[in-house]
Amino acid sequence: MAAVLVIEDSPLILKILGHMFRRTPAYEAVFCASMLEAEILLDSAEHFVAAVVDLNLPDAPHGEAVDLVLKHRVPCIVLSGNQDEQRREELLLKGVVDYVFKESQQSYDYVFHLLGRLSKNTQIKILIADDSSATRTFISQCLKAQRYQLLQAENGQQALALLEQHPDVRLLITDYNMPQMDGIELVKHLRHEQQRKKLSIIALSAENESYISARFIKHGADDFLRKPFFPEELHIRVMHCLERQELIEQLYQLAHCDALTGLFNRRHFFNHAPALLKQAHDAQQSVCVAMLDIDFFKRVNDNYGHDVGDVVIQRFANLLQENFQDALLARLGGEEFALLVLNQSASSLAAELDDLREQCALIEYGQSGAPELSYSAGVCAQGADIDELLKGADELLYDAKQAGRGRCCY
Ligand code: GH3
Ligand code: MG
Ligand code: MG
Repeated sequence: MAAVLVIEDSPLILKILGHMFRRTPAYEAVFCASMLEAEILLDSAEHFVAAVVDLNLPDAPHGEAVDLVLKHRVPCIVLSGNQDEQRREELLLKGVVDYVFKESQQSYDYVFHLLGRLSKNTQIKILIADDSSATRTFISQCLKAQRYQLLQAENGQQALALLEQHPDVRLLITDYNMPQMDGIELVKHLRHEQQRKKLSIIALSAENESYISARFIKHGADDFLRKPFFPEELHIRVMHCLERQELIEQLYQLAHCDALTGLFNRRHFFNHAPALLKQAHDAQQSVCVAMLDIDFFKRVNDNYGHDVGDVVIQRFANLLQENFQDALLARLGGEEFALLVLNQSASSLAAELDDLREQCALIEYGQSGAPELSYSAGVCAQGADIDELLKGADELLYDAKQAGRGRCCY
């Protein structure tokens, strides 16, 4: 559990926050009502992932607690009832995560949203491409407060080289005017390469021409910000870009993974198999496809209930996943699974599947004394495409069932 320091003297706000922390088991709040107490806590061995700080405390009426928290390098979220714009700007420039005005329940929800972001952000790499070192420093300072991992490039060429070295960069913030390769050229280049689809791009420019923003977005930038901008504007756009990416990732997972087992589903298998077949064909490697089906599975459901049937499917899926990490493995439906394996002959895969049956028999389910679990399989290595390969494997699976189950035909 991550500890969050809350420095707040209002009993009402403490009550609201206390209630919200109890509902959020990921965080444990450590409350204190004065700067002195905060100092003692920050000097103790306790590690805080963030602090939520009130600006007006009995022994620190002018936001001194913020400096204290920042001095200890703890990410600081200001939660204040005072909407002083100048103060807000000063504090954001100093490096607080955000300045949240206490106005409604939404303000408190937003604080928890920020806490969630802070822990995710430490894993997120952002590349800043700008020829002005002052701008790079300014952007870095704005984003450092949010705990992102940051990289810097002075022009488009350098940005490309860094993206090559760090394929896990999730967001590029790029200026327009840069020597060697400008921002538009950089965006065009990146969007031309399909493999950089997972990279979000925010473009910047101090140019007054109104068409620059439209040009950037037409070429594939996700957002645009005109210089100069406030740290908060950048922070919020970065957050939106990353959250959009995370939503797309979640949708992808939902569409491509099976909810019961976590394995890929039928859609993913059929979408990805053709590329693997082409890869094998180009490299002159062999390919084989196996269809597997648990034997007498209906009896498991009938004798022990559907819940136990689900557990059996999950455990069987785990067994396959552990043993076929390099294969394309999917649950096609019910208790039926498919495997696509490169560089292995049908006889060798069939032998491997026959050996695995011993481990399958050890899967525990229902009460002790439940019959050993077994499966049948068909392995096919001949077919022009994935449909033919699967059809062949399915026919061989049928043969294995007809021949008495608990075996593999190829
Ligand atoms: P065979 O040896 O010929 O494969 O017989 P079987 O009983 O394993 O196969 P059958 O196709 O007759 O029955 C499969 C059963 O699996 C029928 C279906 O209700 C059940 N089933 C399908 N999906 C699920 C699931 O997600 N969970 C559970 N618990 N049962 C499922
Ligand atoms: Mg079955
Ligand atoms: Mg079946």
